Formats: sequence, structure tokens, C-alpha cells
Amino acid sequence: AKAEATNHSRFYIASVDQEIRARKQLEKDLSQALRNHEFHLVYQPQISLQSDRIIGAEALIRWTHPERGMVPPDEFIPLAELNGTIVDIGQWVLDEACRQAASWAAAGMPLRIAVNLSAVQLRQPDIVGTILATLGRHEIPPGRLELEVTETGFMENLEDAVEKLRQLNSAGINIAVDDFGTGYSSLTYLKRMPVQHLKIDKQFVQDLLVNEDDTRIANTIIDLGRSLNLAVIAEGVETQEQEFYLRQRGCQIAQGYHFSRPLLPEAFVKFVEAFHGK
Ligand code: C2E
Ligand code: CA
Ligand code: CA
Ligand code: CA
Repeated sequence: AKAEATNHSRFYIASVDQEIRARKQLEKDLSQALRNHEFHLVYQPQISLQSDRIIGAEALIRWTHPERGMVPPDEFIPLAELNGTIVDIGQWVLDEACRQAASWAAAGMPLRIAVNLSAVQLRQPDIVGTILATLGRHEIPPGRLELEVTETGFMENLEDAVEKLRQLNSAGINIAVDDFGTGYSSLTYLKRMPVQHLKIDKQFVQDLLVNEDDTRIANTIIDLGRSLNLAVIAEGVETQEQEFYLRQRGCQIAQGYHFSRPLLPEAFVKFVEAFHGK
């Protein structure tokens, strides 16, 4: 039994070692991905449940690794946050999303664009100026941009985050709290934060009609939104039943595979035209 245990731990150490090596390699590849043009953005429509119109799109990053193919953002974003490459990657995302929004506006489709902002980006001293300059460069009115921030990320330096979000918000940029309900959602910070939207995380939407706890959580977020005068966005809406429930419960905006997967720019434009019956 002892020998067996030793073998197990050797095997364990070997596999951990392999994992570390693979991670190091991925980190190295990540630092070159921007230069090698390996990223692109896809856009997922956000639908107003009140007007049945598409009111905007969330920009989501995609990485095509030269050998591994598609690497999901859940895998590389945390890594990019750890080694700081998220700052340059995030800036590229913002720039590309604004460029796209400008080209849609020029084509008579002035949709709002939502961009995920990492807490690491928000910690950069010059982030407010950088974001405003990017909007200016693309001639995008600030009201057309929404920044999605998660609560967990900025908790460790709340004062600094609140101050920057306040500056961005008073310039006209919308702020959404992403993954709402999964972190340390606190009413205290919500009251102090300059926020316009709460996003119900897809984990609560997925089992909305199956799991009573999830139904209660979703209901609570919708009610909280109403009492704080914040519009609520449900992400991960996959069925007609979920859409129906959310609409009659008073959720204002929905996003998910039931309407559309995240799309490449051309497909996105076609989707919007078809949805609006053009
Ligand atoms: P998130 O911001 O919470 O984005 C929602 C995720 O749910 C996206 O996954 C989206 O493709 C997926 N999704 C949308 N509708 C449905 C649905 O109906 N069912 C299911 N099962 N999933 C749905 P994605 O694109 O893989 O992104 C994962 C996460 O990676 C994002 O979660 C976000 O935290 C991060 N991420 C993606 N793009 C960026 C970016 O440009 N910058 C930063 N900082 N993070 C990003
Ligand atoms: Ca998001
Ligand atoms: Ca989420
Ligand atoms: Ca997330």
C-alpha cells in the first residue's frame, strides 16, 4: 500500500508538472496572440422584452490558437489577468468594439455596445482617460457604450473602483454589474455605485423553471432592480419558457441562445435586419 501511495504521488507530481508546463506555454502564446492577430470579437444581441427590439450587443472575445484551435475565454482571460496581458488585450477589445459600433452607426444601426471590463483594467491609473479617448477616436457617443464589471474584482479596492466608475458614468457611459448574484453582492456597495444595469448570471437563468432556489434568486434580482431603479438583463436565456417567465416577471432585457448565439459582424447585421423584419 505504501509503494502504491508513492506511485500515486509521483504520478500526481508528474501531472501537476505537466499542467504547469502547459500553462506556461499558454501564457507565452497569449503574450504573442495580439501581435499575431489571433483574436476576434463576436457579438451577441440584447433584446428589450418590453419593445421586442434589439437594443445592443455584447462583444465577446475569441482566440484562435495556431495549434490548439479555439481556446475559450474562461480559460485564457483568468491567465491574462494574472500576468497582466489583459490590459493590452482589453484595450484591443474596446478599440475593436468601438470600431464596429461606429461602422454599424454609419450603416444606420446605432446600437449600444457592451464590453467586458476586467478589474485589472479598472485598476490602471489612466483607464478613464484611455476609455474616453477611445470613444473619441471612433466618434462614439459615451451613451452608446456599456461597460460590464464584476463585483468580485473591484471589491479589494472599492474606493478607487467607485471613483473611476463615477467618472466614466458622469461622462455618459453605462455601467452594468455582470454575473450579479454570484459574488459578494452587497446592497451597501450597490447604493454607492454608479450603476444602470444588473445582469443576472446565466447559472440562475438556466434552471429558472426547474430549481426553486434559482427562481427565487432571479425574482429577488428583478425586484432589487425595480426598487433601485436599475434595468435587469438576463443572460443565458435558452428557451421560450424562460423568456416568457422573465418578461411577465418584469425583467427588461434578455440575451441568450434562444435569441441568438454570439455572431460574427456580418451575421450579426443580418440577424438584426431579420429580427426587425427589414
Ligand atoms: P460573461 O461575461 O458572463 O459572458 C456570458 C457567457 O455566456 C459568454 O461566454 C456567452 O457566449 C455565453 N452565453 C451566452 N448566451 C448563452 C446561453 O444561452 N447559454 C449558455 N450556456 N451560454 C451562453 P464566453 O463568450 O465563452 O465568455 C466567457 C467569459 O469570458 C465571459 O463571461 C467573460 O467573463 C469572459 N470574457 C469574454 N470576452 C471577454 C472580453 O473581451 N474581456 C474580458 N475581460 N472578459 C471576457
Ligand atoms: Ca459579460
Ligand atoms: Ca455570466
Ligand atoms: Ca464572467
